Amino acid sequence: MKPETLAVHAGGAIDAATGAVVPPIHLATTFEHPPDAGEITGYLYGRYANPTQDRLEAALAALDGGAKALAFASGMAAGAALMQNLPAGSHLLLADDTYFAFRKLLATSAARWGLEWSLVDMSDPVAVRAALRPSTRCLWAETPSNPLLKVSPVAELATIAREAGARLVVDATFATPLLLSPLALGADVVLHSTTKYLGGHSDVMGGALVFARDDEWSAAVFETRKLQGAIAHPLASWMVLRGLRTLAPRMDWHCRHAAAVAHFLASHPRVERVHYPGLGSHPQHAIARQEMRGYGGMLSLEVHGGRAAALAVAAALKLFTNATSLGGFESLVEHRQSTEGPESTTPPSLLRLSVGLEHPDDLIADLEEALGAA
Ligand SMILES: *Cc1c(COP(=O)(O)O)cnc(C)c1O
Repeated sequence: MKPETLAVHAGGAIDAATGAVVPPIHLATTFEHPPDAGEITGYLYGRYANPTQDRLEAALAALDGGAKALAFASGMAAGAALMQNLPAGSHLLLADDTYFAFRKLLATSAARWGLEWSLVDMSDPVAVRAALRPSTRCLWAETPSNPLLKVSPVAELATIAREAGARLVVDATFATPLLLSPLALGADVVLHSTTKYLGGHSDVMGGALVFARDDEWSAAVFETRKLQGAIAHPLASWMVLRGLRTLAPRMDWHCRHAAAVAHFLASHPRVERVHYPGLGSHPQHAIARQEMRGYGGMLSLEVHGGRAAALAVAAALKLFTNATSLGGFESLVEHRQSTEGPESTTPPSLLRLSVGLEHPDDLIADLEEALGAA
């Protein structure tokens, strides 16, 4: 079945008890079971699994073509559980602009978890091969990346990982299962911050992992979620599942609006550079065209005049709200360096745009005015 159809139906089986077309939200934290807990075949306790989360996981597994999906309380919780289940002594090789909170997490926790890690330009397979160590057990790509919109060649990275005896993790938060299918290209695990496009309405936190195989690794990560408790709340699971129902048309609009905004910005004299995989000038445009079904709703621009000029443009925008996060129906702008803090490697002149569902003419008019005024 096509992803658009799966997004509408997966995990949506009619409720057997009532015939309800929309799934019920099971808030119960505990479930009746036989006196001998060893005989349990169903649900036991809310921290382990619950029926609403199961529906979301079934939908995510179907959409990404995986054997097993695990929903989490946030994207960070999902990624952390994955990292914590790499064998002690492993080296983890990540994209140099990996989501900054993952870099921060590793800086504070990797040594305690017995992990080594280093960064590389994941869009450059030659550099990736050169950065491998005998102990490399995991390649961690993020495509398109946050906030530089770098695109990684997933199929080629999968080959490199396989040859090195490492697993390939792809953070596909920007792409969503609608635009990129990392598992079909050979990746082992896909990570989503469902807080973003999958939820789609800036009103629910969540994360998910979709595994190509249901094996010891997925079982170990399930155990970590169960014991550390970073499970998705039933209500949050339900809201992400509802978000999925409109993901396909939303992504279609996000892609078209972002492309219109990117083309406008690319020819604006106050704009030094636009990072958008859909532009012919993007360094990995060819890879994006080959592996993706669309270029997404995220882009970054670098404003002539550095940090002060970028902040002035951000302040002058009216339709774009200054706020972090992305993937909601509404357009957001963020001076990413100020959010990431002193350790940020993001250019000071960079503004990240999450292009929403407003009419692109209005978005472009807002940008035109702000760029002219600042
Ligand atoms: C937001 C984000 C995350 C973290 O997800 P949370 O839901 O905020 O914990 C991870 N990766 C990318 C690419 C993101 O944009």
